[in-house]
Amino acid sequence: MREMSESDKKAQKRKVLVVGAGGAGLASAVAALQANADIDCTVLEVRAEYGGVTAIATGTVRACDTRMQKEVGRLKVTKEDAIKQYLEFGKHGQDLNMLEIHMGKSSDAIDWLLSLGCKIDLLSDYRHQSRPWKEGLPGGTGLTEVLFREAEKLGAKFQFETRANELVMQDRRITAVKALTKDGSTVTFEADAVVLADGGYWGAAEGEFDCDVPDHLRNVILISRGAYPQGGKGDAARMAEAIGAELQDMDKLDYTAQCYVNDKGECSESGGTATLWSDASGIIFNQNLERFVNEDYCFSKEKLTDGIAKELERRQERFVWTVWDEKSREDAWRIRYYIEDGYIGKGFILVGNTLQELADKMKVEPEKLESAIRQYNQYFEQGLEKDPLCGRDLKREKVHPLLKPPFYAMRCGIQCSNRRGGIAADAMTHVLDKKKQPIPGLYTAGSSMNSVLFDGLGWLGGTGLTACFVWGRIAGTNAALGK
Ligand SMILES: Cc1cc2nc3c(=O)[nH]c(=O)nc-3n(C[C@H](O)[C@H](O)[C@H](O)COP(=O)(O)OP(=O)(O)OC[C@H]3O[C@@H](n4cnc5c(N)ncnc54)[C@H](O)[C@@H]3O)c2cc1C
Repeated sequence: MREMSESDKKAQKRKVLVVGAGGAGLASAVAALQANADIDCTVLEVRAEYGGVTAIATGTVRACDTRMQKEVGRLKVTKEDAIKQYLEFGKHGQDLNMLEIHMGKSSDAIDWLLSLGCKIDLLSDYRHQSRPWKEGLPGGTGLTEVLFREAEKLGAKFQFETRANELVMQDRRITAVKALTKDGSTVTFEADAVVLADGGYWGAAEGEFDCDVPDHLRNVILISRGAYPQGGKGDAARMAEAIGAELQDMDKLDYTAQCYVNDKGECSESGGTATLWSDASGIIFNQNLERFVNEDYCFSKEKLTDGIAKELERRQERFVWTVWDEKSREDAWRIRYYIEDGYIGKGFILVGNTLQELADKMKVEPEKLESAIRQYNQYFEQGLEKDPLCGRDLKREKVHPLLKPPFYAMRCGIQCSNRRGGIAADAMTHVLDKKKQPIPGLYTAGSSMNSVLFDGLGWLGGTGLTACFVWGRIAGTNAALGK
């Protein structure tokens, strides 16, 4: 009998194709090669670089029962606590089995990231943060860099500037993916298994997949679709639907006050006011320079963002002001990062050496701004515990009177910050058809997958990255082993 040649062996190798080199795709590729070193793993990435939205993420990963939490000891974080919190936030909209896996495997995911060399700190009871923020880079970069290096080391091949746009089936099995290259030609990649990890339909047009802005926000919203160029455009959902996969919860959208806008009406590429308010302890005004919301609700969509949306609706305006001082800049890495990233030149951050100068740039009455800040500062002079207007905790770390020049202002508006539906999947990450049956050879992870399954109907910061690493690992492993 003829011995098998190298090219025969190569042809026989199980082919795993990953669509998307963001957090979920990279985690899938690494897990696939760890589970079965004898596969041929290729990652298709539409952009010229890896990372996706994951690379610009703050880097907070929600996880429970981790080694770090146990070492600290005083944090009593169990899976049961975490699930309870998720259910409350998610309004019990989850699939309990999927939520159990999402949280149950979160600790392993953190250990796995640490074992690969990611630098991750314990932030608080439920949250960890990847470290590079301290070097002026988003924490997500630290995660994607390590995963990319590991995937390459294990033998994954990367095809950049290659956009997957069609799934090919034979006898009800996935056999290939057709993709468009930069020069417009179509290339067919054979595959025994495909992991869809394109970042979801974040950047898909309004109206597509039923994602319409609700009527009450129509006049006040700044951006009705994902603002980040790195965000998925819904390719995986489109491709999967075309071969009979079920899409679920596509109309579940989140709107948050995360978007910065300049006086030309241009929106910034990056947003995320939550950390800005928590670390910088800036204050929020409507355009009449009245405070109306407790800024410390920054991680609660219901209390902060919905409060801002209601105020904007009431006043039929499209942005609120957030104002801070030099001490805020010193306290908040994010502000320093924005400033270094040219946000002043682009008009997203206004600066004044005095409140008068700042007011001129904001085109508001200086006396009104001075009086509003004076009133806020007086609460501190009076030694109050809570601000009598909006209930802010004045004794909280970093909350301070705005006294130190220069002073800064930023316009913040409402954007569609998340589209949480996606491709229906089971606990093994198999993509499901309309009869809830797995489509052989097809898997999904990260934002491509319907996140209502584990997140429910709420917004809990830090869970998008958990989804990448928990579900990405499951998808990669199963794709590699043909499970
Ligand atoms: C500013 C910001 C901060 C955030 N901070 C946090 C945080 O701290 N914690 C948290 O949990 N979540 C955070 N999130 C959300 C989190 O980043 C996402 O949920 C997560 O990164 C999604 O990962 P992913 O791998 O599914 O998608 P991505 O990381 O976006 O990766 C998808 C990849 O697929 C590629 N792609 C798309 N279409 C195709 C195609 N047709 N063919 C080939 N490639 C394709 C994309 O170019 C991209 O590289 C943040 C989001 C933003 C925008």
